[in-house]
Amino acid sequence: MKIKILGCSGAKFPGHNVPGFLLDDEILFDAGSLTGVLDVKAQIKIKNIFVTHAHLDHVRGIPSLADNIVVGNLHHRVNIISIPHVIKTIKRHLLNNDMWPDFTIIPQPDDGVLKLVELKAGKSMKIKNYIIIPYKVNHTVPAVGFLVEDKKNTKRFFYTGDIGPSDYTWEKIGNTQIHCLIIDVSFPNSMEEMAIKTGHLTPNLLREELLKIRPQPEKIFITHIKPQFLKIVKTELKKLRMKNLKILNDGDIIRI
Ligand SMILES: [Zn+2]
Ligand SMILES: [Zn+2]
Repeated sequence: MKIKILGCSGAKFPGHNVPGFLLDDEILFDAGSLTGVLDVKAQIKIKNIFVTHAHLDHVRGIPSLADNIVVGNLHHRVNIISIPHVIKTIKRHLLNNDMWPDFTIIPQPDDGVLKLVELKAGKSMKIKNYIIIPYKVNHTVPAVGFLVEDKKNTKRFFYTGDIGPSDYTWEKIGNTQIHCLIIDVSFPNSMEEMAIKTGHLTPNLLREELLKIRPQPEKIFITHIKPQFLKIVKTELKKLRMKNLKILNDGDIIRI
């Protein structure tokens, strides 16, 4: 498994891209960063986009990708996959012919560039050698993280998307070994109240979440840090003294 980090920031600033995790050049998890990072050749390798939730920093690349495909007269089609609530929100508020053209019926009503696909939490979808399952997470809007298992080498990663403290995600995943956990830490410890209110974690809240995961993930990668607090969050994460923890940077590649 090769995961390229197109973006892993909790806000958009020059040099900081919002979430996009590209698995084997073809499967994208969250579409915050997409057309601003990949050239057209790389964009049209993507066939499936799994969306954790409908917040703009996780979907903003979808309208641009659809536009690029149609304008380029490219015969490429993309599945947008998420839980029913997220799919309905994308349809109603993003591809609604007000905010942006409805690319599910362009260029032809029966052959849209984008196909919206609902996948219920806890249900699995098989793509190539991968089994992908959405699990509900605690955020301010309906949201999921994705557990991805490579059947070939029985390795798994879990990408949380945006996540606040909860028990149920970890209870549902159960005793499944997560080899690689990609998890949201957005705010410093001093902003715990804000983190909880907005459905995110701080370094201290991360430590508490990790106690709920059994067996422990082999590797932990931190995403979604607000660039405004990067320095302090990095210092606080280092103080956790976890050798298997790494703070992601845009452009990094994770190999599992
Ligand atoms: Zn969010
Ligand atoms: Zn976010």
